[in-house]
Amino acid sequence: MYRVEMLNIGTELVLGETLNTNAVFLARALREVGLPVQRITVVPDDIPEIRTAAREALARSDLVVATGGLGPTVDDPTRRALAQAVDRPLVFREDLWQDIVARYRARGREPRENARRMAYLPQGAHPLPNPVGTAAGFVVEADQGVLLALPGVPREMEAMFQEHALPYLRRRFTLQGRTVRVRTLFVPDIPEALVDERLGDLESGDNPRLGLACGPEGVMLRLMAQGATPQEAETLLDRLEAEIRRRLPWPVQTVPEQGS
Ligand code: AMP
Ligand code: MG
Repeated sequence: MYRVEMLNIGTELVLGETLNTNAVFLARALREVGLPVQRITVVPDDIPEIRTAAREALARSDLVVATGGLGPTVDDPTRRALAQAVDRPLVFREDLWQDIVARYRARGREPRENARRMAYLPQGAHPLPNPVGTAAGFVVEADQGVLLALPGVPREMEAMFQEHALPYLRRRFTLQGRTVRVRTLFVPDIPEALVDERLGDLESGDNPRLGLACGPEGVMLRLMAQGATPQEAETLLDRLEAEIRRRLPWPVQTVPEQGS
């Protein structure tokens, strides 16, 4: 299994102005293809913060997926910070610049000088085209690991991920068709300790895995399984769920996945 981390970049995220929906989308999309994320870091638009977080994540991981801060303004310092994190200079890419100019002209506008910032990539990086916006993302295959940079705008991030990043990841990593499925059950009105007493040994399993979280109205049971196929993972979840229901003398509800 590869170690994967995510790095969400944006001052608005750490200030609590914007909900980090990119993390939710990517965490699900990556586990669906067998690249479950082990750690998510959120940093502001600040070069030293981004550089340090990216370096640390790369040192621990095979793949780091970053989002945000690729735009043309001074407060979008991601490309510079990520270039520093992999010890590479930023280089001007005439091909990207021509692309940017063409996109502006297609909308009847001329790019301003600051748009040139979007034509710089860390040396040796491969651009990821932006199907619905101007700023390209990129991939750097650094000695430390693979670094993937996606835009912050959720619509652009999602389109770039599906159309360009995902095909790249499938080529680059041996995914063996592994997929991760999750299922959430809910036990209303029962203290966590009582549920834990009956399921404790299941919580130390690796695949499938069981996690407990207590809320004000009951206990959430989070089931996770990996399989070579979605069916294999679902079968593991089915078995675990059956065992949980067998052991618990209380009503157990199935919670539908949010946003789907
Ligand atoms: P950026 O390209 O990072 O400057 O972000 C452009 C827009 O996308 C801003 O409105 C951000 O608030 C939004 N955005 C950036 N990162 C995220 C994220 N992780 N989740 C949701 N929205 C985001
Ligand atoms: Mg930003």
